[in-house]
Amino acid sequence: MYNHKKEFDWQTTLEFVKQSTYKILHKRNANKIEDDKCIRCGKNEIESWEHIWICEVNEFSIDEIVQEPIYRFEQQLKNCNQDEDINILRNYNIEFISILESPSIILRGKSKKWELIRGVYNEHFNSLSNKKEEKMLIKRLWMFVYDEIKNRLWIPRCEEIKRLEEKANIQKLDLRKKRESRRKFGGRQGRKNKK
Ligand SMILES: [Zn+2]
Repeated sequence: MYNHKKEFDWQTTLEFVKQSTYKILHKRNANKIEDDKCIRCGKNEIESWEHIWICEVNEFSIDEIVQEPIYRFEQQLKNCNQDEDINILRNYNIEFISILESPSIILRGKSKKWELIRGVYNEHFNSLSNKKEEKMLIKRLWMFVYDEIKNRLWIPRCEEIKRLEEKANIQKLDLRKKRESRRKFGGRQGRKNKK
């Protein structure tokens, strides 16, 4: 239907997928999430994978997170005295954001931010420059933004869900214990045996 070959940089996408950062995304069983109600806000969502990122209980919105990393990335470059890279970054940061905010061709009704969240590298980022070192820096920026989203939304969410699940399991266990002890010690006979 669409010319996927030209729209995306599959080489970069696949290299990226191989990296360990992406594995964290699958730390929890993603399929399991898709069938469930959101344990945090209690909403029954059909597109659960999407809901993870827009859940109203999230501390940050995707839009908030996408804007900030550029500044943080620049700070990181500054700390490493990478002045040339800072110049490249300043030349391309506005275009970088406009690509992210432009509509995605394959994800209907969504911006290219959602491609980034999916880990798919859009070819438009490559066409920003012909110079190899500039392309590389834009790629690094992209990965930085991806990591920021993951660290500020995905990981806190996983931890919170783990906590909620543990709480639910303890309640279930308590209920079972109560039921068992009622069975054991229930009735006249049982009560007599109870120490
Ligand atoms: Zn939710």
